[in-house]
Amino acid sequence: MKILVLNCGSSSIKYQFFSLPNNTLIAKGIVEKIGMKGSFLKHEKEDGQKVLFEGEILDHKIGIEYILGVLSSAKHGCIKNLEEISAVGHRVVHGGELFTESKLVNEDVIDALEKYTELAPLHNPPNLKGIYGLRSLIPSIPQVAVFDTAFHTTMPKHAYMYAIPYQLYQKYGIRRYGFHGTSHRFVSARACEILGTQCKSMKIITCHLGNGASVCAIKDGVSVDTSMGFTPIEGLIMGSRSGDIDMGAVTFIMDKEKIGTKSTSVLFNKHSGLLGISGISSDMREISEAANNGDERCKLAIKMFDYRVKKYIGSYAAAMGGIDVLIFTGGIGENSVTTRAGICEGLEFLGIELDDQINNSSRGKETIISKNDSRVKVMVVPTNEELMIAIDTQRIIEEHNNLC
Ligand code: AMP
Repeated sequence: MKILVLNCGSSSIKYQFFSLPNNTLIAKGIVEKIGMKGSFLKHEKEDGQKVLFEGEILDHKIGIEYILGVLSSAKHGCIKNLEEISAVGHRVVHGGELFTESKLVNEDVIDALEKYTELAPLHNPPNLKGIYGLRSLIPSIPQVAVFDTAFHTTMPKHAYMYAIPYQLYQKYGIRRYGFHGTSHRFVSARACEILGTQCKSMKIITCHLGNGASVCAIKDGVSVDTSMGFTPIEGLIMGSRSGDIDMGAVTFIMDKEKIGTKSTSVLFNKHSGLLGISGISSDMREISEAANNGDERCKLAIKMFDYRVKKYIGSYAAAMGGIDVLIFTGGIGENSVTTRAGICEGLEFLGIELDDQINNSSRGKETIISKNDSRVKVMVVPTNEELMIAIDTQRIIEEHNNLC
């Protein structure tokens, strides 16, 4: 079965094309600058060969037309005709409380997603544009929505509620939802596979550390807590997002700087985090380089980043009554040797003991980086959200076909 995975952002569409069940990536690429000057599609074939197409890509539908065109083109493509695409899986950011798992897209699903645009105004609308665009181009193709929030719908109420007037939860759905669910689900399942154990009997903490970052507590195979909340700003320090901050400081800054909600949102989402502290960059590689050259604010940004992750690991170990496996993923988690060492330092009391030599040589590949006798297995597991979406899509299509 050949599955196309789409991740539609406000001005871009990332895509990957898989052959299942052997999980082979056949092609991938990105459409960028949709609706802007200089829009283009960058396509990469299975053999790594890259091609660039420039054109007027005015909206998501045209972007998808470009993708379908290149996939089926005689020169650069990998299929003879579009009928070879069995289904399309979409990354959808917000599935609210309704979607506890991935779903075959139908009118009810679309209506619910329209409703949830209020909760994710930046993310759900482009996700929906992808669904609509594809439907108008190939009406017969089955589409599956895979939600970032779904994995966290197992959180208990005492973990997801905010201590604010209860009516605000009832009226507007103000609660913690959590994000990066597909990644936390993928890496925890993969870690159990590698260790040859059942997730059902494990206490796992997954650290997805990328430009966006979150930690998840997974007990007996389900998410019981996660650091992102109502929006993806809560929790860890991120590239340009503040993570946890005293609400009192937010209203104080709004008063002092005389700024409204929009500018405040920009301040805490785009100018804070590693960027805000370092004053140099939101990119961990650049910050590390500057810190190595003696920049004090970059050193501070790194210490704060590590410390925040460490605190979450401690609190989630307490929440689950222990920890068996600690997993690092995302661009920073998979590659930054010093970040992993900085986070794990001092956690020996929890049974977390890194093997420095193995940690130092593990970048971007599946590795157990703890000492042989460490009570907690510490692992690097590269995430693959697109593959997870493709696997979900295949399963749902097969279940649907079996029912029909
Ligand atoms: P992601 O959002 O998962 O693509 O991760 C992006 C983040 O990973 C950026 O902050 C990068 O600087 C960081 N990153 C990627 N490679 C490395 C590396 N080798 N060392 C440190 N950070 C890295």
